[in-house]
Amino acid sequence: MIEERFDAIVIGAGMSGNAAAYTLASRGLKVLQLERGEYAGSKNVQGAIMYASMLEKIIPDFREDAPLERHLVEQRFWMMDDSSHTGMHYRSNDFNEEKPNRYTIIRAQFDKWFSSKVKEAGATVLCETTVTELARDTSGKVIGVHTDRRGGAIFADVVVLAEGVNGLLGTRAGLRDMPKPETVALAVKEMHFLPEEVICERFGLTGNEGCVIEAAGTFSQGMTGLAFLYTNKESISLGVGCLVSDYAKTMESPYALLEEFKNHPSVRPLLAGSEVKEYAAHLIPEGGYKAIPQLFGDGWVVVGDAAQLNNAVHREGSNLAMTSGRIAAEAIFQVKSRRDPMTAENLSLYKKMLDESFVVKDLKKHKDMPALLHTNSQNFFMTYPQLISAAAQSFVRVDGTPKIDKERATIAQFVKNRSRWGMVSDAVKLAFAWR
Ligand SMILES: Cc1cc2nc3c(=O)[nH]c(=O)nc-3n(C[C@H](O)[C@H](O)[C@H](O)COP(=O)(O)OP(=O)(O)OC[C@H]3O[C@@H](n4cnc5c(N)ncnc54)[C@H](O)[C@@H]3O)c2cc1C
Repeated sequence: MIEERFDAIVIGAGMSGNAAAYTLASRGLKVLQLERGEYAGSKNVQGAIMYASMLEKIIPDFREDAPLERHLVEQRFWMMDDSSHTGMHYRSNDFNEEKPNRYTIIRAQFDKWFSSKVKEAGATVLCETTVTELARDTSGKVIGVHTDRRGGAIFADVVVLAEGVNGLLGTRAGLRDMPKPETVALAVKEMHFLPEEVICERFGLTGNEGCVIEAAGTFSQGMTGLAFLYTNKESISLGVGCLVSDYAKTMESPYALLEEFKNHPSVRPLLAGSEVKEYAAHLIPEGGYKAIPQLFGDGWVVVGDAAQLNNAVHREGSNLAMTSGRIAAEAIFQVKSRRDPMTAENLSLYKKMLDESFVVKDLKKHKDMPALLHTNSQNFFMTYPQLISAAAQSFVRVDGTPKIDKERATIAQFVKNRSRWGMVSDAVKLAFAWR
């Protein structure tokens, strides 16, 4: 049994929990971090692109020893039908900068490193320890946690819930609702191993340069979903994620979609000869701004995926997790420095600070976007990719058909599959949601 009392207990050693625990401990607070996994990162799944500027705000010199795979110099967006992809590529040598902006990482290694920094900062980190319940006083204030270790409750002035997307503790304690099937995606991911030089050759990369592909299209069978393919040093991470409510409706299996994506003629050659060594499945919060729950209360705050802070439109999550963890810790530090109690009123500072950050501003900007893509998924993920592919093929195929006839045929195809009014309405809705 742990008899000590802590300034803060952090539940979870993922991106948000590590950011919170590190920030609190490095400001001199007495911190206990509890993680159910065998080690930090053992339970965590990510693509994974890591956004440097958010980590720099926590550990400015992280590049010196963090396990980074490749820095990204090229981004490809693909819209796919069954046999082709229409793409947009952006590649810039500017990303070969002294302090690159985005890196691929492998979470199991990265989280272990982050956790070592949390320990160096002075926090007590206990792995293989599941928090089973929040401890509360008679007024309902959160005053600590119960764990699956022997002994009673462990007490702290404030508890930081960084327990990830499932967030069972918070939902069981009535702090927020369970995420709804239409606000979470289920993603499956594989790691394909290849020699470093093969990856460089296939993707046109030099040294530690990296390339990512993000794709939408017919492989998701009309469901709202995306596929990704990220280059690591000696492996390729790839996966597919779709909304849980869509899987329930269509009875499609995520594994079948991943197979479809892997076997697509545009993807198969990139993976040829690889050895699959890892396989994982995980949820991703996709409800956007409207799904953000209550973020603070008497004796507690919630950060990262547990707070649904994930920008599905821009495919960002770890940076929102790190930033919300850091900001929550900074708010707690301010309350503590004033010697004020950790009441809901005082901890509302966290929400105020988060509202001012890119995290909430970005989610608010696209607040209608997730719902729009979900309700029009058949159009956005099936009909339009097929029509765009047909139009692109007609444009590049030279077969003696007069160009004017090709243009008429292309317009007729679009109108046949989606009325003019339907297309205008989709475009207007998209423009409004994106603005
Ligand atoms: C397939 C996939 C690809 C992704 N790709 C990207 C990407 O490329 N870039 C990006 O920025 N984001 C990406 N994300 C999102 C990103 O992974 C998350 O936003 C981020 O991991 C959230 O961090 P977190 O700390 O809030 O939660 P997590 O990283 O999930 O950490 C939660 C931690 O809490 C622990 N825990 C839970 N319950 C308890 C308990 N009761 N007691 C003790 N410990 C507990 C868990 O074991 C875990 O370690 C991806 C997600 C998935 C699933």
